[in-house]
Amino acid sequence: MGEEQGLAVVTGASSGIGAVYAERLAARGHPLLLVARRSDRLAGTKDRLVSNYRVEVTTLVADLEQPSDVSGLEARIAADDVTFLVNNAGAGGLGRTGDITADQLQRMIQLNITALTRLSHAALAGFRKREAGILVNIGSMMAHAAAASAAAYSGSKSYVLNFTRSLQLEYAGSPIRIQLVMPGPIRTEFFSSQGLGESIFPPESYLAPEELVDAALAGLDAGESVTIPSMLDEQAWTALEAARTEFVKAMMSGKVAVRYQS
Ligand code: NAP
Repeated sequence: MGEEQGLAVVTGASSGIGAVYAERLAARGHPLLLVARRSDRLAGTKDRLVSNYRVEVTTLVADLEQPSDVSGLEARIAADDVTFLVNNAGAGGLGRTGDITADQLQRMIQLNITALTRLSHAALAGFRKREAGILVNIGSMMAHAAAASAAAYSGSKSYVLNFTRSLQLEYAGSPIRIQLVMPGPIRTEFFSSQGLGESIFPPESYLAPEELVDAALAGLDAGESVTIPSMLDEQAWTALEAARTEFVKAMMSGKVAVRYQS
């Protein structure tokens, strides 16, 4: 497959899920462009992957909360022969909305929503030209969970869910693949780096990032458009999708519900 030869871009490749994606895609023979803010981590990953897998690895130190850094990466994606993009970089953990500044909220939205949207847009433009490509967007179980201490995070992951599902409809029947990966709790630096303890979820609810990424790639290889590695019975997702369809249909009655009529 053409995607196996092309450049793979992984955002948030300096730790956790993104670092495992980088490793697994290198093992599959992809040359890589790895993106994050911590240059030392990126350099360490690069050295390891080059020596273990003999692939070409380029690093880009970029803060995707900064519009200019996002534009720079979009330009790289437009110029290079990118055939695989993993939109993984993301942050949460701000706390209650009343306790944080509007600028903090804006930065999270810039990273979790705006960067992911612009990078998807840039990659898909190249994919259309080459009639091939794989876009993987990392969502979260929090897309489905309102949370008093994670309002913007939960909202941002709902955006990733609906944005990615809608893109899948746009590209249905085309050779371009778009996968939504929805992790439950994953044991990464996500919690410690944001001053949170892993104890916010029961210890037995966590997967290792390797388990998550290996399952996500297995789902991709199997042709899945939505992969939820820790959901033991996939019927739960099918039922939710069916309920959403019925819900939308129910809102199109063209009438005001009796309970609101005086
Ligand atoms: P992580 O280990 O903290 O990794 C986050 C990655 O994003 C790091 O490489 C970090 O690199 C990068 N990043 C953060 N802010 C950035 C910025 N402003 N610009 C560029 N890169 C930035 O956490 P993770 O668990 O692997 O998270 C990866 C994705 O999984 C996120 O989208 C997260 O929402 C999602 N997720 C995680 C969990 C979980 O339980 N861990 C559950 C559901 C979904 P630098 O700090 O070097 O920039």
